[in-house]
Amino acid sequence: MFDRKQLETVLRLHEKSYELLKWVKSALKQGTISFSVLHTATDSTLAAAEWIQRHLANLPSIARPEAIEVPQFSRLFVSFLQTSFDLSANTQVRTTTKSCCCGFCATIQMGPNLVPRTPSKRDFKTAVELKQFYLQRLATDFQITKSGEVIAKVLADSNFKTELSMATWGAELVRRSQFASQGEAVLALWREFAWKDNNPIRDFTIKPSLILNAEQAIAQRLKEFANT
Ligand SMILES: [Zn+2]
Repeated sequence: MFDRKQLETVLRLHEKSYELLKWVKSALKQGTISFSVLHTATDSTLAAAEWIQRHLANLPSIARPEAIEVPQFSRLFVSFLQTSFDLSANTQVRTTTKSCCCGFCATIQMGPNLVPRTPSKRDFKTAVELKQFYLQRLATDFQITKSGEVIAKVLADSNFKTELSMATWGAELVRRSQFASQGEAVLALWREFAWKDNNPIRDFTIKPSLILNAEQAIAQRLKEFANT
């Protein structure tokens, strides 16, 4: 089950990820960011944390986490970059001897060439597995026995599709804030509730209350199925 406070923090940091990428794109044009510290770690999250910490004072408040949140924010930002973007086909890799070319620095230096990714069929399949994991955890929280049967029923219930995608997406976001993880299927989940007819729903913003209400509706359904 979601912890409201934790969910609020993670969603706030998730929004800042969008803003940080926007800032990176404009700052690259102006040449005001630096890649002069060379990262030896192959772990992108550590490189991101160092880079964000070093630029923290320069970030606009809309994109700036609290200093204490930098490790958590770095995991979310790296995972946001990895799951949501591809490099455009005509990208020319420009490297200079002075700048770091670790995975993280290389990716953000490509800022303007990062194009939104389209989730693959495989991502949508994996998304179903993520929903199963989520329901399993919820069933455990509510001590529902014969959970396999009950979960299958909830998964098949077409009345709860949006709620299930939304709650699973929220759960994955919380998980990604705790562990470095790519999980490209989260993009598929996002499409299932924030898009309609192949277009993003206009003015849609994800809020903690939406996710909490979705979880409440699903938990209710789980209990109903368990008692029939
Ligand atoms: Zn680097």
